[in-house]
Amino acid sequence: MRNKKRPSKLVVGQLIAEPGTRLEGHLKVGSMQDGTAVRLPVVLINGKHPGKTLYIQAVSDGNELNGLAVIHKVLAQLTPEQLHGKIIAVPLVNFHAFHAKQALSPVDNVKMNRCFPGRHDGTSSQRIAYHLFQRAILQADYCLDLHQGGVHPMIDEVRVRVDEKHTQHTACLELARVFGIGHILNQKGPEGQLAQAAPDIGIPTIDPELGGTHGWDAASIAKGVQGVLNVLRYYHFIAGEAQIPERQIVVKRFVPLLSNTGGFIYYKAELYEQVAAYQPVADICDVFGHVRESIRAPVEGIFWAKPVYPMVASGGIIGKIGTPIDYL
Ligand SMILES: [Zn+2]
Repeated sequence: MRNKKRPSKLVVGQLIAEPGTRLEGHLKVGSMQDGTAVRLPVVLINGKHPGKTLYIQAVSDGNELNGLAVIHKVLAQLTPEQLHGKIIAVPLVNFHAFHAKQALSPVDNVKMNRCFPGRHDGTSSQRIAYHLFQRAILQADYCLDLHQGGVHPMIDEVRVRVDEKHTQHTACLELARVFGIGHILNQKGPEGQLAQAAPDIGIPTIDPELGGTHGWDAASIAKGVQGVLNVLRYYHFIAGEAQIPERQIVVKRFVPLLSNTGGFIYYKAELYEQVAAYQPVADICDVFGHVRESIRAPVEGIFWAKPVYPMVASGGIIGKIGTPIDYL
């Protein structure tokens, strides 16, 4: 049913885009305490030419804004005239969390990316996931769920969240390769992630993680834009050649770097750096500035993520190493 040979209407809830048109509107997904509708912004671009359907969403975690800017910048470059197929974009998924400037919705304190495919009779976040899944995601051929490491500094990477035996694993890994930002986490994720729920019904899906920052990060946004354009080009939505690196790093898990001592962190390695096993990654100093502990990488890997603030309590995490290093 998906690969229609002739252009057809694009329908998401009440929103209908005829072939060759672009429509911006809202999808009602609930109501506020005073009865005001909770509405998510939706952009539909229905190509003049037949093709596949791409679903792309951002701000599933309410403080992860890089993906929203990626959607703005990509959609500004696209016209229905040039497009083969359809694009459904939801630039702001977690309405309540976004307004609270935090990751989780204050209505139910549930992580949106544990709620897919959603429940019609569930909590607020489960209901939002349900509306998106039923009305938009089900009709997609590919899904991109744009995330970042919250406000914590993290490398730009793409996550494949189904295990290697899953029927869609190869297609998801290929989608991650095509996105092409150089680092991939290939690891089955927790239940309820969109990057599991959509592959479970046959839709290749990835979870690009575009850095980690408060507000916006221009470098991560630029990589995200390139990634989405790569997907659009490679899968023939638009003309042009995808720019995919010849070699990308793939890891399967994270090993936390734990501090035995409370104190201040002086890093000796940078994010993206390949560290050897036992290589010193940071010194922990006490409040007087004396070194109390030197933390070494427990395994070889990539220095992948670190906390926002350069201090730690005993037993706290001062970073994560992505391991083992493999290449795609
Ligand atoms: Zn996220």
